[in-house]
Amino acid sequence: MYISCSAERTILQIPEEGETIIAGYWSPELGLCTQSVLLTWKDGKVKALLPLGHLESHPGKLLQWDSYLLLPGWLDAHVHLALDSLDFYQCLENWAQPSLIEETIKGFLQRYLEMGIIAIRDGGDLPGFAWLAKNKVKEGAWSGPRVISVHEAVNRGGMYGRFLGRGFKDLSDWQKKKIDFFGQGVDQLKVVVTGLIRFDDYQKVGPSQWAVEELREFVEEAHGRGISVMAHASGEEGISIAVGGGVDSIEHGYYMTTRHLELMREKGIAWVPTVAPIGNVLKYPTERYSSHEIETLKRILEAQLVKIYEAYRLNVRLGVGTDAGAYRVPHAESLYDELDWMIQAGIPKLEVYRMATYENARIFGNPELGTLDVGTPMNQLQLVKDL
Ligand SMILES: [Zn+2]
Repeated sequence: MYISCSAERTILQIPEEGETIIAGYWSPELGLCTQSVLLTWKDGKVKALLPLGHLESHPGKLLQWDSYLLLPGWLDAHVHLALDSLDFYQCLENWAQPSLIEETIKGFLQRYLEMGIIAIRDGGDLPGFAWLAKNKVKEGAWSGPRVISVHEAVNRGGMYGRFLGRGFKDLSDWQKKKIDFFGQGVDQLKVVVTGLIRFDDYQKVGPSQWAVEELREFVEEAHGRGISVMAHASGEEGISIAVGGGVDSIEHGYYMTTRHLELMREKGIAWVPTVAPIGNVLKYPTERYSSHEIETLKRILEAQLVKIYEAYRLNVRLGVGTDAGAYRVPHAESLYDELDWMIQAGIPKLEVYRMATYENARIFGNPELGTLDVGTPMNQLQLVKDL
């Protein structure tokens, strides 16, 4: 078996049973411990974490882990495995060569594990590459993090999202095809509620695709099948539709208002604010955008960070998701950018870590992930150098 060692950006092969001294640990359950700890595991699961006295030495030291802290593995709540973060249009052309895409995705999956990310939630692609990846990992054919996949998104035909889903003409078109749609397999239902924001026009968002009543139909159908609903939504109108439709999480949510946040807290709706697609364009300068676009992006970023902090203060459920695959948002690495953006918003670091583990696991519908306690499988944990 293995454990992710994000400290060295690698994966360590370990026996099913062992013991070693580590420099400490952190988890949402156990809190922070920064003194030497004797870690023992058996059958691939944590058996005990025993803090050692200052001068105490232990003869059974097996592995050179005494400079590492043990943490739950990270979860990224929003990625697109079928996109490469370099060139969107070229990437879509490459989809015609599935074996090429599959090789690329295998590389991304490996990278996720090396960087301590043990589960990802994929927001979909029309050909179903992420769904394939999910199954390959599950079968053990590919090495990678657990993939929670929406398979294909629900978007309105002729509107934004043609690379995410086939597009439904209207509700009756959906009613006719929904059996087949769910029959393909889905972990969560993704609904494209609005188009994209514009980098050159502050407050402007692509049109809403569904009315509240239509969205409610999707949500009821999904909930009836025990499936959560994630909504791609930005802008005053679009977020209002998503909240009114009773979705489980709002993805992106640019131009969020205080009223939205209050309603989300009331209803227990989580927010995955994906700062990286905006912030990383500014953090890693590029020639691609005009100075007007850069100025607009700065305003959007500033507003998003303010609202994230407000959400934190209001106790709204916040997840950490990158939109990896988008331009300047590389798979795996970008989760570290996203953690930094949340910290820059003003949220204490360990609270951000709690969101990227505990809260993300709930958003995924897999609360057993994102934890470190006695009984946690070693391959859901990671070794880091410092906090
Ligand atoms: Zn997305």
